[in-house]
Amino acid sequence: MKLLVANRGEIASRVFATARRLDWRTVAVFAEPDSDARFVREADESRCIGPAALDRSYLDINAILTAAAETGADAVHPGYGFLSENAGFAQAVTEAGLTWVGPHSDAIAQMGAKVEARAIAESAGVPIIPGAATGDLSAAASQIGYPVLVKASAGGGGKGIRIVRSSDGFDAALAAARTEALRSFGDDRIIVERYIERPRHVEVQVVGDQHGNVIHLGTRDCSSQRRYQKLLEEAPAPNLPDDTRRGLHEAALALARHIAYDSAGTVEFIVDADTGEFFFLEMNTRLQVEHPVTEAITGLDLVELQLRVAGGAALGLRQSDVTFGGHSIEARINAEDPVDGFSPRAGPVRHVRVPSGVRWDSAVEPGSAITPYYDPLVAKLVVARPDRETALDAMSEALDGLVLGPVPTNAGFLRWLVGTPQLRSAEMTTDVIDALSADEMPAPPTSDQVAGTAATAWLASMQHDRVRDDSGPWAWLGPFRLTEHRSVAAVLLRDAAGDLHEVAAASINDAESSVNVTSSADAGSVAVNLYGYTVAFDVPDRSDAWTPTATDDTGSVDAVAAPFPAVVVEVSVVPGDVVASGDTVVVVEAMKMLHSLSAHGAGTVADVRCAAGDAVEANQVLVSFVGADPEPEELS
Ligand code: ADP
Ligand code: ADP
Ligand code: MG
Repeated sequence: MKLLVANRGEIASRVFATARRLDWRTVAVFAEPDSDARFVREADESRCIGPAALDRSYLDINAILTAAAETGADAVHPGYGFLSENAGFAQAVTEAGLTWVGPHSDAIAQMGAKVEARAIAESAGVPIIPGAATGDLSAAASQIGYPVLVKASAGGGGKGIRIVRSSDGFDAALAAARTEALRSFGDDRIIVERYIERPRHVEVQVVGDQHGNVIHLGTRDCSSQRRYQKLLEEAPAPNLPDDTRRGLHEAALALARHIAYDSAGTVEFIVDADTGEFFFLEMNTRLQVEHPVTEAITGLDLVELQLRVAGGAALGLRQSDVTFGGHSIEARINAEDPVDGFSPRAGPVRHVRVPSGVRWDSAVEPGSAITPYYDPLVAKLVVARPDRETALDAMSEALDGLVLGPVPTNAGFLRWLVGTPQLRSAEMTTDVIDALSADEMPAPPTSDQVAGTAATAWLASMQHDRVRDDSGPWAWLGPFRLTEHRSVAAVLLRDAAGDLHEVAAASINDAESSVNVTSSADAGSVAVNLYGYTVAFDVPDRSDAWTPTATDDTGSVDAVAAPFPAVVVEVSVVPGDVVASGDTVVVVEAMKMLHSLSAHGAGTVADVRCAAGDAVEANQVLVSFVGADPEPEELS
């Protein structure tokens, strides 16, 4: 049998791993920016399905079906995201005579729009959040009682969700939500729901087959969220009374049976932490990012079950066959910048060091690039231990032992999150992280702090290895030079901003044994994990000669450059335009987020060096100005 995976990155690798174990042949499809990606090499065969153009290639149904026909694939697995919840794709795959590794297309369609899913859940006897989707929504909101939540029927990934606190803001929020929903999802239907003040996100994994068997594989808690996006997930959901847990299992099974569900899927619920009540949120008719935590506590391979039932075989598991053991936690490592509001970032990966004793589902290796075309998830770090407490400790330790950079990630933030009292005591609710003020959040360590720690740790390791130091007072050893006394090291490192650090490390007795240091395969840089954050430095050569990278070849003329790798969406100026400070000149998109780049002074546009659709590098000049006016002066 031959399986085509219509997806990319870590999920494509994940599906290939099971396929290989089951002796299936594998086919990768890829867009041009991914031509060197690991998942492409892992497949037995691969086909390019399109050029660099945001994520459209992976949505090109015809190109994917052509690749399937050309390679003689028997089955198509959609992964998650992209086309995984596209009923039309499921149907097209089936009509092409291929096996669709997912539920029947009606189930996808029925659960695809939240408006219909709510109605179906209600008729299956599953409690839904008080709300409305039709009629006078403003009147409905008043009746539900503020605050209310306004969300897009076709929404996903936490997009288009708004809290409205009073009737004053309702009409404006509704109008904005409709516009955004239409633009993002092509469907302007909106649901108004009671806003649960202290919501826990608890979900139930289900699996069904085409013979009417449906079982559950227990709960997961995904309450650690930022902006409605999951950060940490664990199984089983902790801190739930037995009858609530049983109620959740039964509700999920009732809904799955009601729609004759015949694959792996997830029914999401909100549990009100104040009252203990639970309500249906939505059903995801696909494999979920956090499926590894369920695999860890059940010992089952969810992709294997998907493949088995997709071919029409019976599930071969009864509810009583499923046993639960231990506790598992997953951390989503995203390429995003913690010092810039966690906005997604593209960039290079040079250092990857994964601690032992964990499951690491990832798309990256040294030499990979995180491109701006797709979402920021780069890896999932999963631990499983006998109980929750040791699992939390193991996750902290794993995040301390992980080195991944220099593209910035959220790993240091996750390291901090794992130790918060709300998480340790299993009282995390989905609103907690968003409510943190800036000074409650951990700040990444400074470059000086990290450089000093690195030098100390490096010194310790050199003494341990008895590295010879016989070439004068300063011996160059990697990025470090030792003093003649060998008890002090100095380090000369250049950080990402281009600043040079010459740091003397403390005496070896102060060496922090918990700090991880790894050197890069290309030897020109060193990456250090401090408090979970990876900080990478370039090592200037021995001569100390060091030239900062030119970011603006226009000399003294003011310019707007791309702050990170991105794709130009809109250019708002033409040569000759006069701009004021703060005016938007270019809009770029990186990792599914739009960023407006504005002039940081007044001036006249000299040159526009990009056009919509261009892929641009970090620091690439996009627009240059002449005669940047000084601040207007008072005439006297
Ligand atoms: P998506 O399709 O974007 O995943 P969901 O309906 O699953 O949308 O909601 C995503 C998240 O938004 C939930 O996990 C929860 O944190 C929050 N949320 C959704 N509905 C409510 C609600 N009525 N009250 C409070 N929080 C909610
Ligand atoms: P102590 O050793 O006295 O407990 P530390 O300074 O080592 O204090 O910090 C304790 C823990 O707090 C660390 O293990 C680390 O996880 C976390 N921490 C400290 N500083 C930071 C920081 N800048 N960013 C993130 N986490 C930090
Ligand atoms: Mg959801």
